[in-house]
Formats: sequence, structure tokens, C-alpha cells
Amino acid sequence: MKVLRTVKEMVEFRKSLKSPIAKVGFVPTMGSLHNGHITLIDQARKNCNVIVTSIFVNKTQFGPNEDFNSYPRDLDGDVKKILNSNKYNDRVEVVFAPESEDVYPPSSKITRVNVEGMDDTYEGRARPGHFSGVATVLSKLFNIVQPDISYFGQKDAIQSILVKRLVKELNFPIDIVIVPTEREKDGLAMSSRNVYLTPEQRNAAPILYKALKECERVFNNSNGNISSEELFKLGKSIIEQETIVKIDYFSLVDMNGTETQYLERDGILSGVIKCGNTRLLDNMILKKK
Ligand code: AMP
Repeated sequence: MKVLRTVKEMVEFRKSLKSPIAKVGFVPTMGSLHNGHITLIDQARKNCNVIVTSIFVNKTQFGPNEDFNSYPRDLDGDVKKILNSNKYNDRVEVVFAPESEDVYPPSSKITRVNVEGMDDTYEGRARPGHFSGVATVLSKLFNIVQPDISYFGQKDAIQSILVKRLVKELNFPIDIVIVPTEREKDGLAMSSRNVYLTPEQRNAAPILYKALKECERVFNNSNGNISSEELFKLGKSIIEQETIVKIDYFSLVDMNGTETQYLERDGILSGVIKCGNTRLLDNMILKKK
């Protein structure tokens, strides 16, 4: 296992790899790894012989009142978790964990990447500048790591749509693989932010998954002929059963991320709740039969 702490080291390591012998799989993360991250790394291990996991809390995707400073950071624990989860002995495993100042040299002026239209999505409106921060850091990381395949979680469904558009529209020669959401036994989607939850909030948080599952059931029973308003109303009525949880929003988009009232093909129902100050998001793919 190599732990590379600078952009320069990562670039040099990448240059030392000979293609086509080396197939590089890349898993970008913000660290504080849980089993959801490990499923992405495991997928990379299946398809690639060099696996790079980046651990980088990216300041440009946080808003001024968000949790950038308090975001959980545990590089030693993350490295151990990756080591302990490795069942192969012929894969090269790399952790790339640069400092913020190395990725963003100190200047107020930085080049930003904007995937047009992402700020008009529900999540984009709720977090101004967030998606441009994500697109910017991913463009940088893709250029530094130069992976063959990069892995992302379905948990961040709108981000997955952004990544697919980013590589297509900026011609990054990278395949994107989306991995299903890993959940706790009670359905709560695994997230680094779950550590913020008090025991009471932790008990209430799976209501989001329950609401999404119920919406999926009703969607299937109606053969997909149900409006977004009706789905949101149903979802909200379920969330309201847990009084300590506040609903932020529900949204329904097609697989290209465009908001829609009725789905003509498959789509994504997303829900965001707040437990105290902690914002939790989850989603369900609705399949049109
Ligand atoms: P993060 O560290 O939260 O930025 O997440 C890094 C990557 O892991 C993203 O592609 C996420 O979508 C993915 N991810 C986060 N949570 C899960 C989960 N519960 N199951 C699968 N993938 C996840």
C-alpha cells in the first residue's frame, strides 16, 4: 500500500505505470471511510490491477455555512480500513491524500468547471456552487490520477449524472461505473455524516429510506402513472411520522437529471431530510415497466 501525500508524487507514480499492463481504477472520496466506500473500492479491485483511492475534503464544494471545518477526518483509520478490506495480494493499492493548498494553490482566483444546468437541479439550488466545486475537483483529480475507470456511488445520484456529463462533454477518456447504495441493516444509507447523529436521530433517520420504498411501491402499483406531486405528498406524510426529522425536499428527475412531473422512462426519486444540523440524502431508482 502506497500513501502519496502530494500531487507531484501522484503524477510521478502515474507516469511510472506502463499501459496496457496497468489498468487504473479510481475511487474519489472525502475520507472517513465506511463500507459504502469499500464496495466502490472492491468493484475497482475486480476490474483493475492498480487501485487509487483519493481522500480529500474538497473545500470548493462546501457552502459558507456548511460543515467543511467539522467534516470527519481520519487518514490513519482510512488507510487501515482499505488495508483490512483487501482480499487480493496482486493489486497495487494507492491512497492519494493531498493537502488542500497543494490542490488549490493559495489564490482567490481559481479556474472552475461548470457543468451547465446542474445548478438548476433541486440539489443545485439547495447548495449554490456545490456542483461546480465537485466538477472542478473531479477534473483536477482525473488529470492527476489519469484513471481508466472511475467509480461513484448511486447514493449521490445527481452527482453521478454530473460525472457522466463531465467526462463526456470534456472528453475525459475514462469509463464511469455507478455502484449501488450500501445500507445499514435498518435501511439507512451509509454516509460519513451519520457519525454526527445523536442516538435519537440515528433511530429516526431510516424513515427516509422507508418513505422512498413506499413511494417506489405505490409507483409500481400505479404502473408508473403517478405524478411527482403525489409521490412527494406521500413521502412527506411518512417522514412527518418522525417528529425530530425535518423534510428538506423530494425531487423526481429522469436519468439525465431533468425534473419531471410524470416519468416516461426510468427516473430517480431523491429525498433529503435534516436531523438537527445533519443533512441526509438518499434516492431510489424508479423503473418504468
Ligand atoms: P464521499 O466520501 O461522501 O464524497 O463519497 C465518495 C464516494 O462514495 C461517492 O461516489 C459516493 O457516492 C460514494 N458513497 C457514499 N456513500 C455510499 C454508500 N452508502 N453506498 C455506496 N456508495 C457510497
